[in-house]
Amino acid sequence: MTALADTDMLIGSKFVAGTETPETVLNPKTEETLIELPEASADQIDAAVNAAEAAFTNWSRTTPMERSYLLLKLADRIEAEAESFATLEALNCGKPRHAVLRDEIPGVVDCFRFFAGAVRTQHGMLAGEYLPGHTSMIRRDPIGVVASIAPWNYPLMMATWKLAPALAGGNTVVIKPSEQTPLTMLKLAKLIADIFPEGVVNVVVGRGESVGNTLINHPKVAMISLTGDIATGKKVLAAATKTVKRTHLELGGKAPVIVFDDADLAEVVEGVKVFGYYNAGQDCTAACRIYAQDHVYEKLVADLSSAVSSLKFNLANDEENDIGPLISARQRARVASFVERASELNHIEVATGGKLASGRGFFYEPTVVAGALQSDEIVRREVFGPVVSVTRFSDVEDAVTWANDSDYGLASSVWTRDVSKGLAAASRLQYGCTWVNCHFMLVSEMPHGGLKQSGYGKDLSSYALEDYTVVRHVMVKNG
Ligand code: NAD
Repeated sequence: MTALADTDMLIGSKFVAGTETPETVLNPKTEETLIELPEASADQIDAAVNAAEAAFTNWSRTTPMERSYLLLKLADRIEAEAESFATLEALNCGKPRHAVLRDEIPGVVDCFRFFAGAVRTQHGMLAGEYLPGHTSMIRRDPIGVVASIAPWNYPLMMATWKLAPALAGGNTVVIKPSEQTPLTMLKLAKLIADIFPEGVVNVVVGRGESVGNTLINHPKVAMISLTGDIATGKKVLAAATKTVKRTHLELGGKAPVIVFDDADLAEVVEGVKVFGYYNAGQDCTAACRIYAQDHVYEKLVADLSSAVSSLKFNLANDEENDIGPLISARQRARVASFVERASELNHIEVATGGKLASGRGFFYEPTVVAGALQSDEIVRREVFGPVVSVTRFSDVEDAVTWANDSDYGLASSVWTRDVSKGLAAASRLQYGCTWVNCHFMLVSEMPHGGLKQSGYGKDLSSYALEDYTVVRHVMVKNG
């Protein structure tokens, strides 16, 4: 086992180990155990929620400036420790360390800085006399204790997307990282405890069905924020009904990529090679479901397959790796089973990949599944692995209809040299985001979040700050 520095949970101002059944935390690249981490007991979860509740009284009354300064301090500390955060995230997720350092850590730092600024520049309706003799004003106030539940694909970044707007808005938080990837959150807890008042952030670890379930059902939790599976989202909704908690759900995706005949094919191939397979496709916005128009279909399949087969993984020199493994043996088996079922269909051609990679680690070959039809499982269900399907279309109407014919509604893209055609398609796509001639580009200023079963509520942007605060009306009778 690797010697790890920060392995205790944060409850109030105390760092404590869980007391219940240990969960094995693995390095997916080597399959080695990193640590056996005991999960939180019901009493510890209760203590974490009580600490958050106690801290809320003072924290909710701090000024935006005070909260902003602390968020900026945290951003600076993370930036100063970027190298060690990247090492730890790479260790726990198997990702190429250089990608974490280049893409994720700067995104994390920027997210804290963005919300530090955003909370000081909120605006809204004017105060005024909407009833004669009465002055009305709008306030935006914090909600209370937020239970935040994070997934394993970008552990530190997803935790940040939850913590930054919640804290900026004046809420206190109990956060549970995924049982598979708790390490960077536990390291972050050390920095948080140095900067924020006791109880403002609490961290508990453990499995979803035990620790997560207890946390989301706690009567003192006012809001639940989840990034995870649709099935988990439904459990959150059921838990929320008991005490009418607010909910914020980010629940996966199956992003359509519409490629018109007039698209710049080289750009499409480069874009999908990167953004269909980034993080081994374990990304809710991954460019995984291509609809290619007749004239470009054959060349797209050929060029994409050739480009994808050049993706590098599991090389001894990590600097050379483009992608990492799947997070677990179970996730890899799930991905493999999707491709196996697809390949049994006569109309499907596995143009490249389609196999478990040899050697240690939960690697799966980057795969292109061509000839897919709209009714195929590979087109309809979220694979969450390095697998992209390609479906042929002739008529624009079909492409838009098929793209929208999905349980998901998170992200989509349209590729064409005719921007007005791109915008026309974008206006009809039922997705939280549509990119034209790119995919996957996120900025802190713009919202990220879904429609349909991808959930609701926005991460990033001032819209997230709205989600983590509540509008209140105060009316004063004059004279
Ligand atoms: P998951 O739902 O299994 O787990 C997510 C978190 O929920 C984990 O911390 C887990 O412990 C917890 N959890 C599980 N069951 C629970 C329960 N009954 N009560 C409370 N908590 C519970 O999802 P995952 O496998 O970790 O993550 C992958 C999923 O997340 C994919 O579907 C992916 O698309 C989605 N995702 C969505 C976004 C987005 O922004 N929409 C971003 C990243 C990941």
